[in-house]
Amino acid sequence: MLTPPIIWRVSSRARRIILRLDARKRAIIITMPPHAKKEDGIHFLQSQSQWLIQALGELPPSAIEQGAIPIEGDTTPILPTTTLDGRTRLTKDGIHIGHPQSEHPVYLLSFLKKYAQKQLPPIFQQQSTYMNAQPTKLSLRDVKSRWGSCSRKGHIMLNWRLIMAPRPIATYVITHELAHLSHFNHGPSFWNLVDQYTPGGKIGRKEAEKWLTQNGIRLLSMI
Ligand SMILES: [Zn+2]
Repeated sequence: MLTPPIIWRVSSRARRIILRLDARKRAIIITMPPHAKKEDGIHFLQSQSQWLIQALGELPPSAIEQGAIPIEGDTTPILPTTTLDGRTRLTKDGIHIGHPQSEHPVYLLSFLKKYAQKQLPPIFQQQSTYMNAQPTKLSLRDVKSRWGSCSRKGHIMLNWRLIMAPRPIATYVITHELAHLSHFNHGPSFWNLVDQYTPGGKIGRKEAEKWLTQNGIRLLSMI
């Protein structure tokens, strides 16, 4: 288990030192009241080591720890680095990261974001055409708890981490958000429209929602 980073915060609302584990950031967040001393924070951290070990043990393993990352639902091995060529690329055997081991999380993250930028917009475009929907803008974002959103102005946001999910799951999320352009609610007409265009119809939609519930935390926290 890699030691997670510690993020120090000061909050005027904090009445005592608060410790928590952010599963998505894979970091320990320590929040200090304004006048607390840093050494008190360090002391508190040490006094909670039992809790920390347990909380860390419950954290889903990171992609680097597992040596693999799902890409479009396929488990893709992270290959042992044989050359430090400064490049990150996807080969038929897995992902090659040509950087020192300690920098792998950073390079893997930026590679996946770029890969999502390349792969998700065409799927979105295709589904928009299929549904005859007219979104005004698509942006890929890194958000904590959502897979997608649609604003009243027709601006659709997708979580770039959908690139890790199998294609029908990503397509369901895209369909869901595009359907909001016609129905800005979750009423029966909205679901009818979603089910008309989701791969596998209503069953496919239910399966996709189940998949996201079961795998969501893993995708949000593994990298
Ligand atoms: Zn919705």
